[in-house]
Amino acid sequence: MSTSSSVDSPCVPLLGHTREELRELFGSAGLRPYRADQLLRWIYGRGVLALEDMSDIGRGLRSDLEGRFTTRSLELDALHSSQDGTRKLALRTLDGARIESVIIPDGRRRTVCLSSQIGCSLDCSFCATARLGLGRNLRADEILAQWVEAVRVLAEVEERPTHVVFMGMGEPLLNLANVVRAIRVLTDPQAGGISPRRITVSTAGIVPRIAELGRRTRARLAISLHATTDALRDELVPINRRFPLERLLEACRDYPVARRDRISFEYILLRDVNDSDSDAKRLCALLHGIPAKVNLIPMNEHGGAPYRRPDEARIEGFAEQLAKAHLAVSVRRSRGDDILAACGQLGALAPRTQAPG
Ligand code: SAH
Repeated sequence: MSTSSSVDSPCVPLLGHTREELRELFGSAGLRPYRADQLLRWIYGRGVLALEDMSDIGRGLRSDLEGRFTTRSLELDALHSSQDGTRKLALRTLDGARIESVIIPDGRRRTVCLSSQIGCSLDCSFCATARLGLGRNLRADEILAQWVEAVRVLAEVEERPTHVVFMGMGEPLLNLANVVRAIRVLTDPQAGGISPRRITVSTAGIVPRIAELGRRTRARLAISLHATTDALRDELVPINRRFPLERLLEACRDYPVARRDRISFEYILLRDVNDSDSDAKRLCALLHGIPAKVNLIPMNEHGGAPYRRPDEARIEGFAEQLAKAHLAVSVRRSRGDDILAACGQLGALAPRTQAPG
C-alpha cells in the first residue's frame, strides 16, 4: 500500500500467510493461485511492498488486490547504524507500539535478529526488555514485516539476509504459533528462501514448548542458560522456578539436533555473580553429553540493571576453563552497543508499554 491511511484499513494483511494459505485465499477471491507465488517472491525475496512496483502483476489485478489486502504491517521509524556495521531498525506497529530488530554483519553472514513480542513477561533481572513488561504477542505478519524491512535495508547495499535469530525482544516460545508460521514463510523457497538450519530460536526455557518447536520446525535451538545452580538461575531467570535446570537440560537432550550441529547455550557473564572458575566447572558438568556450544555474552551494561561485566582477564579465564574441558566456546563481543542494539539492550529507550487489561 502506498498510502499511510492503511493504519486503520479494513484490508487483510498479506504478510503472515503461508504459501498454501495465500493460494487458497487467492483462489476463493477468484484469482489464480500462482499469483500467490509471484507475490511472495516480490515481498520476501526482494522486499517490495508496494503493489504498484510489482511489474509482472497487471494493473487491473493490482488495483483489485489493493482494495482487499494490505502489505503494511509495520512502519520503519528510524535506522541506526553502529560503528561496527550493526544496524538497528526502530519499528512501529500499526497500533503504535515500538519494537526493534537488528542486522548483524559478520564476515559473509548477514544475521537478522527478530523480535517476537512487544516487551517481555519473563522479567530476567539483567535484561532491558524485561523493564518494559509484556505488551502483547506480535502477529506473524508483524514478525515477517521485520524481515522484509531488513531485506529492504540490505538491498540498498546489494546484500541479503543469510541467517535469522529470534533473539530480539520477547520470548519466542510464548508466541510459538506465530513464530512457527513466520519460520514456515522464511523457509519457503518461494518466499524467504532461508534454510531452517540458518534459523535459531532462543528461549529462556519454556520447557514444554521446546519439544513442540522441535516437532513443528527444523530450526536450531539456543538456550539462555546464564547460571549453573537453580538457586542463582531462579534469581536471574525467574521462569526457572517453574522449569528448573534438570527439566530444561532433559528437554535439550531430547531436541532433534542435525548431524554435526549443536545446541547453543548463551551464558551472560556477570562480574562476581556467575563468572567464577567453579561456575565454569559446573557448566561443563551440566552440559556433559549434550551436543553443545557455549556463547559467552559479557554483560551489556544499561541503566536498568545493577550488574557489571567482568574484566577481560576473567572473561578469557572463564572461556579457557570451558575450552580445556573440550566444550566449544565463543565470546560474543557486543555488537552495536553504541546504538543500544546489543543483547539485552533492546527497548532500553522505549517508553514503558501498557499491558492490555
Ligand atoms: N527470551 C529469549 C529471546 C531473547 S534472546 C531468550 O531469553 O533466549 C536475547 C539474549 O540476550 C538472551 O540470551 C538474553 O539472556 C541476553 N541478554 C539479555 N540481557 C542482556 C544483557 N544486559 N547483556 C547481555 N546479554 C543479555
